[in-house]
Amino acid sequence: MSPSVPIVTTVAELRQSIAAARAKCLKIGLVPTMGALHEGHASLVRAAKAECPFVVVSIFVNPAQFGPNEDFAKYPRTLDDDVSLLADCGADLVFAPRSEDVYRPGHGTWVTPAAVADRWEGFLRPGHFRGVATVVLKLLHMAQPDVAYFGQKDFQQAVMLRRMVDDLDVPVTVRLCPTVRQPDGLALSSRNRYLSPAARRRALALWKSLQRAAELVAGGERNAARLDAEIRKVLATADGAQVDYVAIVDPETFEPVEAVSGPTLAALAVRIDGTRLIDNVVLDPNAT
Ligand code: AMP
Repeated sequence: MSPSVPIVTTVAELRQSIAAARAKCLKIGLVPTMGALHEGHASLVRAAKAECPFVVVSIFVNPAQFGPNEDFAKYPRTLDDDVSLLADCGADLVFAPRSEDVYRPGHGTWVTPAAVADRWEGFLRPGHFRGVATVVLKLLHMAQPDVAYFGQKDFQQAVMLRRMVDDLDVPVTVRLCPTVRQPDGLALSSRNRYLSPAARRRALALWKSLQRAAELVAGGERNAARLDAEIRKVLATADGAQVDYVAIVDPETFEPVEAVSGPTLAALAVRIDGTRLIDNVVLDPNAT
């Protein structure tokens, strides 16, 4: 028989289970997700299990982080499959709250994220990071984990959350885990399931363009404008790809750089047939 994992939906039940784990002196890990889980999420759970004997995975499609014209209504909801994947990778508890219990009547308090959230994703998706910051702070208060795990795939989100945890003295350690890709390089994403086979082939241009930038840096290129142009050239080979942004930035501040003089983030957002995909890579001029 395949393993199973308990599911709780209320904060009271969540706290009861966590109190029982704490009573056994178990270190608690939290992996916040929106469900539609894949190997990227599984890698976070495995990283959590490697250092925390009790790992909670939250599954909550957070309405507050979707814009009015975004895909909240059609965002994939696959709870049964999610739970079997989580059982397989050793999660101890699933927390799947109802929206009404997260945003209770009268909810009116929101987190204003730091300036790192103003650009790129934050600029193009007004209110997105405010919604993310608020729900993640709530989840951290609900579960009170020792360690919380996030993916490098959403690099700007992770930097914004690290800043929030530090600025607001939240007693949790934030871990950033590497992006999991399919063998051909496409970053795993819950939104990949919107792609037709042809669109998926075109979506490979995202990773190819970032790899091209990494190759150029390895070959001595340091000029950010030229890297930007090369990335766009590769993206342009994907029919109908609409580039939201290409960012060559300081990985802490997300301010654009003119030259790659230390670890630098190349990040991008591209729409392929209406599906918005993001990806990034750290360009390291000192890598051997
Ligand atoms: P989401 O369910 O899309 O909100 O993502 C939940 C967490 O999984 C976030 O911290 C993401 O950065 C992380 N994540 C999503 N895709 C990947 C991936 N391909 N590799 C590693 N982590 C990921």
